[in-house]
Amino acid sequence: MYSNSLIELDRAHLIHPVASYRGHEKLGVRVLASAKGATVTDASGRQLIDGFAGLWCVNAGYGQETIVEAAAKQMRELSYATAYFGLGSEPAIRLASELAERAPGNLNHVYFTLGGSDAVDSTIRFIRYYWTARGEPQRDQFISVEQGYHGSSTVGAGLTALPAFHTGFGIPFDWQHKIPSHYAYRNPVGDDPQAIIAASLTALRRKVEEIGPERVAAFYAEPIQGSGGVLVPPRGWMKAMRELCRDLGILFVADEVITGFGRTGPLFASTEDEIVPDFITTAKGLTSGYVPMGAVFMADHIYQTIADGAGASAVGHGYTYSAHPVSAAVGLEVLRLYENGLLENGVKAGARLMEGLGSLRDHPLVGDVRGRGMLAAIELVVDKAQKTPLPAAAEPARRIFDRAWENGLVIRAFANGVLGYAPPLCCSETEIDAIIERTRQSLDETLEDPDVRRALKT
Ligand code: PLP
Repeated sequence: MYSNSLIELDRAHLIHPVASYRGHEKLGVRVLASAKGATVTDASGRQLIDGFAGLWCVNAGYGQETIVEAAAKQMRELSYATAYFGLGSEPAIRLASELAERAPGNLNHVYFTLGGSDAVDSTIRFIRYYWTARGEPQRDQFISVEQGYHGSSTVGAGLTALPAFHTGFGIPFDWQHKIPSHYAYRNPVGDDPQAIIAASLTALRRKVEEIGPERVAAFYAEPIQGSGGVLVPPRGWMKAMRELCRDLGILFVADEVITGFGRTGPLFASTEDEIVPDFITTAKGLTSGYVPMGAVFMADHIYQTIADGAGASAVGHGYTYSAHPVSAAVGLEVLRLYENGLLENGVKAGARLMEGLGSLRDHPLVGDVRGRGMLAAIELVVDKAQKTPLPAAAEPARRIFDRAWENGLVIRAFANGVLGYAPPLCCSETEIDAIIERTRQSLDETLEDPDVRRALKT
């Protein structure tokens, strides 16, 4: 077992993100000690396949020597450079330019952040600035999608539509609005793609009308809703929403914090969706989780309006660690790896993952299988016809996570019985097959859970 003293020190001092503090005190921490490729090793020596790439971020896999070297080299040469005062560093400039070259359409301007939440937060600030510069400061209302996740900053958490991020925090603010999700498995309009797209278009039109068309600043959407349970919209959904935003004269932000950098196949899911948003937010796969970094991609017309609006004045938005040279050096090496086989491997592994998860459809607990590339989920139910979720008494998030862990697999188990998958793109066929086998074993064990059995019988 782990060192008891570490568990005690953790209990006494480390506040964990998005955790029940009391629950965590009771259960104690599981300490991870090392990792290589797609395998993590805990402090007791147990080896597990990381089917969730940390927090859907370690796209390149762990312990890639060339990434480690790129970071070490940069730390030796120039460990920090501010991007304030007109200063800069070569890796940050090169990364911005390499990324702009690959980003869809005219998204030629890159603002580096520390992660996804502050990337989203930055877009809110830029968008307000943009509309003020355009002489329309009253455009201060923002719309996002139910089940969406846009981070945990004070304002971003209000665009997020998951109750845990609101309760007790006094958010969302009254300028943050939502429209229903496209969630095909549980959509009141059914699962017909065209009906789902039509319903979302109507919902957005109505919401804009209700707020007042001259007051709406922007609409935010994820190409695939990640933290809401890996909800994949029908093909054409993002495109239809993007086009409607253009017609309505409001800005469109694609939040690609999860979907960016190969998670669904290409570097940007927006490319697959055939759209050019006004902004794209990214993080996670940008540095593959080796060091913190996010990026906001800004379209030319937004940049020019902000620049002209500010004139000789400073646009007062920035962080000490904006455009950090070490993160940028890591980003450059990760990008090189993506383009030297990693994206390609991810596409192959993703097809195998989807096929493997599809083979679980006949399991008595599997109600839905969905995903794209290396981003997938299965939704567990106790009654397939009624789509009855697992009972809360079965504590799906904890017990299934534990069972998978015992079987040598890390997955994301959501409270409502959705299991999320986002393995590193470097996974071999054998590793993908092991993810499926270990999932099946964990589901079989879940079938034996007394709380689940009771619910299945009724
Ligand atoms: N936006 C999306 C779509 C996300 O999935 C996340 C994190 O999972 C964020 C924003 C916030 O990113 P971070 O946790 O790096 O702050």
